[in-house]
Amino acid sequence: MTKYVGLIGYPLKHSISPDFQQAAFDYYEIDIHYEAWEVEPGQLSSAVAGIRQPRNLGANVTVPHKEGVASLMDELEEPAHEIGAVNVIVKRGDKLIGYNTDADAFLRALRQEAGFEPQDKRVILLGAGGVARAASFALVRAKVGALTIVNRTFERAEALASDVRGSLSQRQRLSLARWGDAELAEVLSSCDLMVNCTSIGMKHSPEEGRSPVAAEQIAGGVLVYDLVYNPMETPLLASARKAGATVLGGLSMLVYQGAAAFELWTDREAPLDIMFEAARGALER
Ligand code: NAP
Repeated sequence: MTKYVGLIGYPLKHSISPDFQQAAFDYYEIDIHYEAWEVEPGQLSSAVAGIRQPRNLGANVTVPHKEGVASLMDELEEPAHEIGAVNVIVKRGDKLIGYNTDADAFLRALRQEAGFEPQDKRVILLGAGGVARAASFALVRAKVGALTIVNRTFERAEALASDVRGSLSQRQRLSLARWGDAELAEVLSSCDLMVNCTSIGMKHSPEEGRSPVAAEQIAGGVLVYDLVYNPMETPLLASARKAGATVLGGLSMLVYQGAAAFELWTDREAPLDIMFEAARGALER
């Protein structure tokens, strides 16, 4: 009997998860079908209840439901509880277990693709939404030295900072900044890593074609990590290259979080090469 895994989010038209997850199932010739389940805000509880049907193995969760879904799980595996967001649901018996594989995927890409070790480093994080939450907790766990969070809606940055503060060690520093603050230029010029966790630059969004930071504001020695993965070469990465900075795009994090989800649903090793090839193919279409 065919089993199903779904992606819960809204809207989903441009998601590439169905492409690379289905490629991984097909590689092993397992009878699992990955579907896009568009769930409008307000319909989340009934969508989660639907996962309990015998035909389903679980789901991925994306914008805007990662935080809302956490309270609908029977159990949360760390770090989902600490972060307060779930991007993978696994059905075990009659229980739905919520996982967060974004945080590990964020660090795995940083370490494996860019050779960057966050311990004792100065990091500036742009954004305070769902992915900024996973990235902040991951950086704190990886013993980042100083973390500065900048967000358009300052209250959202304050809320994230107040949650993260409880996980900080005495050696770690956390600060907030507003776009346009005079001291922001100083933070930008002295950081080791800049992470874009905003949707600025994302294809098919109102922010398509824009960069959150101009080339003149980027220091040559910094690593610029743009979590936006579509397009693969974002305006921010283009600006960073112009400034002589090292760059890392968001595609590897996306595939790594998906690979971890695949392993949770199937107990098989994720075919990373197949998943990367399918993800790149989907973005180039
Ligand atoms: P989200 O929760 O909706 O947060 C969006 C963030 O972008 C907020 O901080 C928001 O600021 C900021 N923002 C949006 N438009 C802005 C503008 N015009 N000026 C300044 N700030 C703006 O979304 P998310 O889940 O965190 O995702 C953010 C981006 O990361 C998306 O492009 C998503 O595709 C990408 N992402 C990548 C991965 C990966 O694996 N590579 C995983 C997840 C997400 P406000 O709080 O002020 O609204």
